[in-house]
Amino acid sequence: MLKKPKLIAFDLDYTLWPFWVDTHVDPPFRKAKNGQVVDAQSRKVKYYKEVPSVLKQLHNEGYVLAVASRTGEIDGANQLLKLFDWEKYFTYKEIYPGSKTTHFQRIKTKSGIDFSEMLFFDDEHRNKIDLNTIGVLMILVDDGVTQELIRKGLENFSEQYGSK
Ligand SMILES: [Mg+2]
Repeated sequence: MLKKPKLIAFDLDYTLWPFWVDTHVDPPFRKAKNGQVVDAQSRKVKYYKEVPSVLKQLHNEGYVLAVASRTGEIDGANQLLKLFDWEKYFTYKEIYPGSKTTHFQRIKTKSGIDFSEMLFFDDEHRNKIDLNTIGVLMILVDDGVTQELIRKGLENFSEQYGSK
């Protein structure tokens, strides 16, 4: 049996969507008549294509889901989560600049879930170094979150914490 995390957290930029929300796109965002999410220049705003199915599946499987992002574009990030209809999946959203250890301290306080029961997906290696110090297992994201990466992440988690 795989040992599973209780909580799975995600970074936003280059993890759930392929850009920096504070520099590459132009908030505010809105839904165009054709249903596409666009920025202030009416440019289509994309996400990594497997993300909606990944979030839906993990949510349905009973994992507690969270966002941990260091972006300074807090309003824009929240708008996109709403417009992409992903907000319903996330129990915790920690979106503000600073060290990610702060984000996870707050998630721990709010949820009562220990760092050793969390799994985190993020594209920046320096965050992995920070999170190592408090014992949150971070999986480095290379080209956006996919079903395959989630499977590998859950496998790594089970190897790290042992089966039960
Ligand atoms: Mg990122």
